[in-house]
Amino acid sequence: MSMTLRQLTNCPKDATIKVVRTSQRRSREIDYTLYTCTYHRWLSKAWMGRRTAVDPGEVRCGLLLDNRSYEEILRSHNEEWVRLVTLHDLDEDHAGDVEAWLREGIAELKGFGFPEQRGVRIALGHALLALTTGSDEVSAQAAVLTALAIGETGEAADRGA
Ligand SMILES: [Zn+2]
Repeated sequence: MSMTLRQLTNCPKDATIKVVRTSQRRSREIDYTLYTCTYHRWLSKAWMGRRTAVDPGEVRCGLLLDNRSYEEILRSHNEEWVRLVTLHDLDEDHAGDVEAWLREGIAELKGFGFPEQRGVRIALGHALLALTTGSDEVSAQAAVLTALAIGETGEAADRGA
């Protein structure tokens, strides 16, 4: 089972809390583990799971170790930030067509012309490039998730999170 690293904040503080969601699926034990500092514990409200304290100095605030499937992580990105920034929902607007979702989202951001969205637009562009030019499906999917994770961290910076 592969793991995707995501970084949900640009906060330099040590994590003091972790949220672990155990899986309902037989194929894995844990869906994800999210680490936050005390201030960013509000972030973890959107992330269900068992909360425990962690010793400072081990992990930075905002780290998310995501063990879920490609499809599940895509939907997580969609729900957490992509649809809010691009106004394009993967399922509602594009019936699960990832290529169309990325392409139209990028077009929407170009239309806004907000320079601060440039980083997010480029990350979505990298995801689209990975999706359409990947040599095989598994590596293309991994690259799509990496590009989206970079976009997610950039978007958090734009929001000041
Ligand atoms: Zn923090």
